[in-house]
Amino acid sequence: MIRKKTKGQLIVLSGPSGVGKSTVISELLSARDNIYFSVSFTTRAPRVGEANGINYNFVTRERFEAMIANDELLEHAEYVNHYYGTSLRLIQEKLDAGIDVLLDIEVQGAAKVRSKCPDAVFIFIIPPSFEELSRRLHGRNTDQEDVIAGRLQKAREEYREIPRYDYLVVNDKVSAAAAEIIAILTAESCRTKNRMNLVEGV
Ligand code: 5GP
Repeated sequence: MIRKKTKGQLIVLSGPSGVGKSTVISELLSARDNIYFSVSFTTRAPRVGEANGINYNFVTRERFEAMIANDELLEHAEYVNHYYGTSLRLIQEKLDAGIDVLLDIEVQGAAKVRSKCPDAVFIFIIPPSFEELSRRLHGRNTDQEDVIAGRLQKAREEYREIPRYDYLVVNDKVSAAAAEIIAILTAESCRTKNRMNLVEGV
């Protein structure tokens, strides 16, 4: 008899704003079953095309600070003047049910997850170049020039954290980046420790 996998895999994806993480994630979610994307909480305003409960749970600063005070977040960080955080309860339920959980979080939050959940898989996505990142941020047409400058500066700081990640993916073409992440997740699922449910007699 094959025993059921007991716990889901926690996957942490980081990368500079504008690198195209959301597009890569959409491709990934449609290609692979049994992954739950953790919808974060944020105090920033929705961008055009973003929906509450789908891209983020958009909340006030007061509500966010209450969530911190009540220990409801696995991690949170302040990024370019706004709070972002991950609900502990929502992801715990999925992991306990054997479902893999994907977090799209920045580097300070990832560092907190690293200390709390050492078995998580950490993946960093970069653009082919900074010039290309700047082009993508401008092309998004949603942020003011000073916000874009702040995000580019932030990207340079975030790059210093890359050596702490397990895997590095370059998002030149979305389909190729998603395929690399799928390969990483497949390899992770084949780790002996994640497959002991398939071994008879132990
Ligand atoms: P954006 O405003 O471009 O959607 O996101 C800005 C940054 O916040 C991105 O790097 C994104 O990965 C990060 N982020 C989104 N949700 C969370 C979260 O729950 N926690 C943390 N620490 N970062 C997050």
